[in-house]
Amino acid sequence: MSFVPPGTGWPGDPATAATPVAHDPADVRRLAATSTTLAELTAAQSVCRACPRLVAWREEVAEVRRRAFADETYWGRPVPGWGAEHPRILLVGLAPAAHGGNRTGRIFTGDRSGDWLFASLFRTGLAAQETSTHAGDGQRLIDTRVVASVRCAPPANKPEPSEKSACFPWMARELALVAQDVRVIVALGGYAWQAMWPALKETGYELPRARPPFGHGAESVIRYGERPVTLLGCYHPSQQNTFTGRVTAHMLDEIFTRARSLAV
Ligand code: SF4
Repeated sequence: MSFVPPGTGWPGDPATAATPVAHDPADVRRLAATSTTLAELTAAQSVCRACPRLVAWREEVAEVRRRAFADETYWGRPVPGWGAEHPRILLVGLAPAAHGGNRTGRIFTGDRSGDWLFASLFRTGLAAQETSTHAGDGQRLIDTRVVASVRCAPPANKPEPSEKSACFPWMARELALVAQDVRVIVALGGYAWQAMWPALKETGYELPRARPPFGHGAESVIRYGERPVTLLGCYHPSQQNTFTGRVTAHMLDEIFTRARSLAV
């Protein structure tokens, strides 16, 4: 089997054998719209099969595996939103990594980007542990939730426009289900920044006419009803960025310290 069957005991698996499976973008729209709780929504996300290219890729990666993980079972399914049920801070990323989230079943878990991200979240009081290595490791986010704009690992980390659009309802619905609690939204990278705006619009946020440009430390205040919500830009802690020093631990800490202070 090239993926973990739902409901077979994987730590944190939100789905069961009875969870409905989306087979095309129309199914995604319908199932996202009719999910009334995060539990229901993440369960449906985690068994989605709407994008044939991404389903084939995630399962092939899970079958072939990287040598370092040859003895492990890979998750091989979409990686659902994860973290607090009532988050004050929402982190938005691009997509799971082939040998990270696609292996462990938890976003940013088991890859180098996640090492940087979780270490910073821990230092700034937003994660219970310094590392996030596998789904049963006891890691917990504090007042924080993480979602990916595209829930399946794409080849070369590049989802097609049709795949971004197919996956959009999962993120928009998740945003809607946590909007009453969220005070700060942090976009990890320029793509997440771009992907966020249509989802915010769909959720009912009041947005500025001109979309502010992405940058590390970029801030924009939008409104959800009467309440101000701050969007924060943060360079993605990808290996490319951390190796070159474009992102440092200090720079990440500054963003999450700021997010935490705004979320109080
Ligand atoms: S990318 Fe999103 S819509 Fe496409 S199969 Fe994965 S979860 Fe489903």
